[in-house]
Amino acid sequence: MCGIVGYIGKRDAYPILLKGLKRLEYRGYDSSGIALIDGFDLDITKKEGKVVRLEEAIHKKEGSIGIGHTRWATHGEPSDENAHPHVSNNNSLAIIHNGIIENYESLKIELKKKGYHFSSETDTEVLVNFIEDIQETESLSLEDAVRVALSKIVGAYAIAVISKEDSNKIVAARKGSPLVIGLGSGEYFLASDATPIVEYTNEVVYLNDGEIVVLTREGYSVKDSEDIQQTPYVQTLEMELEELEKGGYDHFMLKEIFEQPRSIADCMRGRLNTETGNLFLGGIRNYSKALQNAERILIAACGTSWHAGLVAEYFIEELCRIPVEVEYASEFRYRNPVIKEGDIVIAISQSGETADTLAAIEIAKERGAIVLGVVNTVGSSIARVTHEGAYLHAGPEIGVASTKAFTAQLTVLYMIALRVAFYKGTIAQNKYRELVTEIGKIPKKVAAALESNEKIKKISERFKDAHNFLYLGRGYNFPVALEGALKLKEISYIHAEGYPAAEMKHGPIALIDEQMPVVFIATRDGSYDKIVSNIQEVKARRGIVIAIVNEGDAIIPDMVDYTIEIPATHESLMPLVSVIPLQLLSYHIALMRGANVDQPRNLAKSVTVE
Ligand code: GLU
Repeated sequence: MCGIVGYIGKRDAYPILLKGLKRLEYRGYDSSGIALIDGFDLDITKKEGKVVRLEEAIHKKEGSIGIGHTRWATHGEPSDENAHPHVSNNNSLAIIHNGIIENYESLKIELKKKGYHFSSETDTEVLVNFIEDIQETESLSLEDAVRVALSKIVGAYAIAVISKEDSNKIVAARKGSPLVIGLGSGEYFLASDATPIVEYTNEVVYLNDGEIVVLTREGYSVKDSEDIQQTPYVQTLEMELEELEKGGYDHFMLKEIFEQPRSIADCMRGRLNTETGNLFLGGIRNYSKALQNAERILIAACGTSWHAGLVAEYFIEELCRIPVEVEYASEFRYRNPVIKEGDIVIAISQSGETADTLAAIEIAKERGAIVLGVVNTVGSSIARVTHEGAYLHAGPEIGVASTKAFTAQLTVLYMIALRVAFYKGTIAQNKYRELVTEIGKIPKKVAAALESNEKIKKISERFKDAHNFLYLGRGYNFPVALEGALKLKEISYIHAEGYPAAEMKHGPIALIDEQMPVVFIATRDGSYDKIVSNIQEVKARRGIVIAIVNEGDAIIPDMVDYTIEIPATHESLMPLVSVIPLQLLSYHIALMRGANVDQPRNLAKSVTVE
């Protein structure tokens, strides 16, 4: 994920681009850059780090046409070289790009044969040279060269290209990544979302997938990928700036909850082909043998990431037959753990900066373990200090209570488990194919689970004044119960506890009375009949039961007070779906209690202290 912005008109482009980048910084902030054309000069400044560092480094600010980018690295670590804009070999074209060019490696080989050289590790630099090559060999206009190039590209992109040979033009296109055009008078804007545009004009065109737009000072023209002229739909923006930054949602947390069908798909994109079953995790290729041969795996994490680790323990043991231990990173570092040479430690962290997890990694490394990172933030400390790792690709998570990072962590860990099981031979071919197909369906199933939002809102109304909550689940849904309780605690400040449902009779059942809401995650799996009995035990003591069940459940809805239905899936994948209603429940309850959902008291997004 990254932010892109562009301007062509009569004013200086630089202040517009800079302000735009600051607004888009939530989309990615590991490096940024700006390209400006002033007469026949193409001038580029790019800098690793946040946009303020670019602002300090900028040396030339003239030009009324320009493009800017704030990066969230996918190919190549954050650095000045890998930052956008990227320039073509003849120094005439500059490009900014949001997305991933999946076939960049084969294109790069072909271009190298033709003598092209590359100064970054990005897929984007390949694309700009590919456009240049087509333009030169076929003597095409910039827009035609872009169209021909894109017809040969596999992947997702929003791009903007400028040429110093043709300085009255920005060519932009999208497929899979967002792009908005702002229509001024004698001036045009483009951006990943409307936030950089809204203060200049409220007339916008949201480009459709496959469309290419040419912006000049005189006007704009939108064509489809077949070069057929389109009549774009011009929309009037009515939203306030702040709302726009949240994509129209009231809070980042809600936005991020609703983003999950997409963020889970993004996490699998380019890694798992659900049709062929091909599964490639480039980030852990050097240690895949070590993973297969590991005698045990340790998972170190904190908070929600620790819950993702608990779910992973269940599926790694089931699929790979390797013993797994899940540790709180904070405990691990202080209790002289037994670690043997060849042990694998998986460190999970959204921010990649969690201090306890970083310390646990150091100990594990000192004692000879191979440490793999599962983190969201590209270029973060954990990504740098681990031997290898796999990014979540969930996009920046701004709400302090983690939601989409949890489901992305599960997705990455599941792909790791599937791959190890496949090569280790602990999974039958047909089972492997069945699970690959099933994980491919998860984004749609998560979208279906989100449809219960209104119903959950009504249920929340009933419980907003509760003082306590119990969350119960068995098997794969036990860590989900813990996560549901944590979500409620951290944003609504209601005391909540998660338990394995069968443990209830060893203590917590004493808490049950007619005031106690009990959330059961009771989807159809191996322990369904047992959990039905646990529900009856709670009802017999007049507890109030909210049950998360699979669609079409004919038994539980008659026994409980409230039912929330979610689609069925394989039990090992169920947490990806069953956590959704719990996220929504905590969100609505917190909101109704007047709590600050995005920035709960005492918490911070990236826990960089011990
Ligand atoms: N794939 C490109 C890169 O790694 C763009 C990433 C983005 O969307 O920020 O530079």
